[in-house]
Amino acid sequence: MTAIAVTIAGSDSGGGAGIQADLKSFAANGVYGASVLTALTAQNTLGVSAIHELPSAFVQAQMRAVYEDLSVGATKIGMLSRPNIIETVASELHRLQRLDGDRCGPIVLDPVMVAASGDPLLADNAVDSLVHHLFPLATLITPNLPEAARILGTDPAEGRAAMEEQARALHRLGARAVLLKGGHGAGATSADLFLDGEASFWLEAPRHVTRNTHGTGCTLSSAIAAGLAKGMPLAQAVEAAKVYITGAIAAADTLSIGQGHGPVHH
Ligand code: PLP
Repeated sequence: MTAIAVTIAGSDSGGGAGIQADLKSFAANGVYGASVLTALTAQNTLGVSAIHELPSAFVQAQMRAVYEDLSVGATKIGMLSRPNIIETVASELHRLQRLDGDRCGPIVLDPVMVAASGDPLLADNAVDSLVHHLFPLATLITPNLPEAARILGTDPAEGRAAMEEQARALHRLGARAVLLKGGHGAGATSADLFLDGEASFWLEAPRHVTRNTHGTGCTLSSAIAAGLAKGMPLAQAVEAAKVYITGAIAAADTLSIGQGHGPVHH
């Protein structure tokens, strides 16, 4: 059977992040991708100039259309923009999880908050809603250091001990597993911490210094969802996705896209 993953996320007109990155990452990782759009961004490598949110009823209509027909192996969630979209997505996923055979598969939640340019992609009042409604449904959450800090109301973690503490605090908020990404930290390597309440391990890769990191988080979380859709256990899907994103960042400078933060190379 064809492995299928769904992304519930925003569109990046510049093609580097959001739904566009997710679908490229699914394809590169051997999985058929379907998409449920939450918001459209008018965006390029320099920044976001406008956001058009879709009505939550239309987000629901897309989810019904996709999940009623396609046999979905995993779901990735990216930009959700506002509490009403978060609540709609959560209630649809909750319904799907309770149906026979768990129709949405494992859920990878990337708590997208800002674009690489620094423009906001999540309303200030939406963080609590994300934690309350979606963390309990998620198989894995994939915050970076600034996102983890905003969720926990602390400063970004510096060093491994602080990352361990924050990953445990995020786990206590209700997600089954946490991948705390260290890419925004300092040092010669980029180390991410995986923790699921039973096991924990570090994933390390050499740090490639490039300004072309647009879509990194989207690409990684989609690669994890692709692995899960293919039937990999969670820890293996996370390890394979880290290898994939490391290669995509290392090859980013072979592309020449736009004048700002260009995309990684799938
Ligand atoms: N989703 C959308 C629609 C975006 O435009 C962006 C960034 O611009 C993101 C998600 C997050 O991107 P990244 O993968 O760089 O964290």
